[in-house]
Amino acid sequence: MTCSGNCKLFVAVQQKPGGGRCRAKRGWGGGETQAASIPGTIAAVQAFYADHFVLPLPEGHRFPMAKYRLLRDRLAAELPAVRLCQAEPASDGELALAHDPAYIRAVSEGGLSPAAQREIGFPWSPGMAERARRSVGATVQACRAALQGGGVAANLAGGTHHAYADKGSGFCVFNDAAVAARLMQAEWGRAGRRPALRVAIVDLDVHQGNGSARIFQGDGSVFTLSVHGARNFPFRKEPSDCDIELPDGCGDDDYLAAVEQGLAELSHRFEPGLVIYLAGADPHEGDRLGRLRVSDDGMEARDRRVFDWAQQRGIPVAMAMAGGYGRDIETTVRVQLNTYRVALSHWQQWQRRAGAPGAAEAGVRWQNGAP
Ligand SMILES: [Zn+2]
Repeated sequence: MTCSGNCKLFVAVQQKPGGGRCRAKRGWGGGETQAASIPGTIAAVQAFYADHFVLPLPEGHRFPMAKYRLLRDRLAAELPAVRLCQAEPASDGELALAHDPAYIRAVSEGGLSPAAQREIGFPWSPGMAERARRSVGATVQACRAALQGGGVAANLAGGTHHAYADKGSGFCVFNDAAVAARLMQAEWGRAGRRPALRVAIVDLDVHQGNGSARIFQGDGSVFTLSVHGARNFPFRKEPSDCDIELPDGCGDDDYLAAVEQGLAELSHRFEPGLVIYLAGADPHEGDRLGRLRVSDDGMEARDRRVFDWAQQRGIPVAMAMAGGYGRDIETTVRVQLNTYRVALSHWQQWQRRAGAPGAAEAGVRWQNGAP
């Protein structure tokens, strides 16, 4: 477990129990500092989804597309304090903040070569293009909700960190965190807020965030942290601001120590106003691609540590689900649902801290006792 020394900083949507509208307006009001200056006024954790826009896959395809719908169903049934909101699609102009126009056109119009489609891992279809746009839109809306006072919001999908500016890879078409980071910075600036918004991408998916690392190379306003399996995909890694590599079979103690090390590096070198958290479920021991052995308790401790870290610093977090390929799909859904439980506890603390009305009635149910 080593840090590359090349170290450079989370997303969400909210829902009000018993109804109410999803809120994620463009732009913000006044204020001169970043995270801590934003009042907590959103009365539920918002979570944006696009799973009803079906990405058609051939029979026997190995991507577990059903997990998104299963997670949404479980959230609706078990965590009523999460408001589920339909994601809007990202526009061409928004995608162009992180992607080449020619690539955006190729995805939109069906111009991807067979090789490009193989590298993405999905066959092109209009549904694939629409879903990719909405997955980016979900992270954008989650970032807005987190920044506008929620403190935490989420994309039920997203975390498509293998997408580069000019190509997709590894089940990733567009890079949602990259587009959202740049768009939030632009909206922040247009609202006249100073200083400029700095964003940290905390990528704890088991696979390295190569696309994000490449897009933000040389950009001092975005810090990329990746904690990932050394011998796992992608086999050609890109230097993040901080990379921490893990050996195959890594268990809870070493994994949590690596996360701690990454957050310490981040604290030491960067002051974010927003964290986009890629809460991948694939480090879990039940994952068929992850190669690590992190238990349910270890995954929960990881999520809690990230949220506590952000809470202590008053930094809003937007969360994306990233990868999860459980041998049993229910395992992945269980791990992700638990991430939402931790996020809800974080949201509740944030609202109490902000003195938001109704914050205490959110209906959070703890998985493993009180926080
Ligand atoms: Zn992954």
